[in-house]
Amino acid sequence: MNLPKSNDNGEGLVFNIQRFSIHDGPGIRTTVFMKGCPLNCHWCSNPESQDFFPNLMVRDMNCRQCGACEKICPEGAITLTREAGRKIERGKCSQCLVCIDACIYNSLNVCGKYMTVGEVLDEVLKDRAFYRNSGGGMTISGGEALLQWEFVMRLLRAGKRQELHTALDTSGYATWQTVEKLLPFVDLILWDIKHLDSREHKKMTGVGNHMILENIQKASKTKTIWLRMPLIAGFNDSDTHLAKLIDLAKEAAVEKISLLPYHEGGKSKCEQLGRTYPFPAGKAPNDERIESIKGMIEKAGMRVSIGV
Ligand code: SF4
Ligand code: SF4
Repeated sequence: MNLPKSNDNGEGLVFNIQRFSIHDGPGIRTTVFMKGCPLNCHWCSNPESQDFFPNLMVRDMNCRQCGACEKICPEGAITLTREAGRKIERGKCSQCLVCIDACIYNSLNVCGKYMTVGEVLDEVLKDRAFYRNSGGGMTISGGEALLQWEFVMRLLRAGKRQELHTALDTSGYATWQTVEKLLPFVDLILWDIKHLDSREHKKMTGVGNHMILENIQKASKTKTIWLRMPLIAGFNDSDTHLAKLIDLAKEAAVEKISLLPYHEGGKSKCEQLGRTYPFPAGKAPNDERIESIKGMIEKAGMRVSIGV
């Protein structure tokens, strides 16, 4: 696998920096979301994270049909008609992004920004006092953070130099050689597991899980791990599958299992990206089933949280 490390200037492509995050590890944290992902999960709630380049995102409701974007588009990808309003032909769009500055009504936006380690860290350090008081810190997430491993390694190292608690939120889909480079600078791994059967995993994410499972076993020898799993009705919520999840959690001595019930957060973002939502039939298990799953994991002696 030929993974990008960072751009030629050593910058990383970041799509969001979320301050006061309380769902991505202990305490109050700042979560840095890296752009680009080698998986293609059907239920992805952040589809804007998937491409390893900045994306044009469109909010139709803000458009005043002034025509400025149509005039500037070098590809003729934008048309404005009285009947249909402003339309963007995504097949023609080269993602040059010049239309964004032309739109003064905030209908056209970019997702993804190249940033230096120093720029990201400056943002993260703004809330240092909150980290100290709450036992929080910095979490690097994605997309898949390991896709830009070199940048992420430098950011984690810089965070440790500032004595921050660091967490890495990852699917673990990278070679062990990549994963192990980052481990010295990581206090906690939030390991996103989707399915324990490789064929099922591939069906819904585009890749198998062998490398991921091997990496969990290896990393668990030295690192604290929280397992995270999106909980999707009819995909990974059967007793048989959950028993396998518990076995993995015990084997890897994970501190906690987090179950994240499926939600349709990715739907409106797909619209903004001009994509068809790939999982219209997606559902979370009902509340009763979620409670029984929680009970099953607790009975096995594991700590479990729902939705965080
Ligand atoms: S980003 Fe796409 S739609 Fe916008 S100006 Fe460039 S080619 Fe045209
Ligand atoms: S510039 Fe903005 S407001 Fe004007 S037509 Fe284009 S998207 Fe709509």
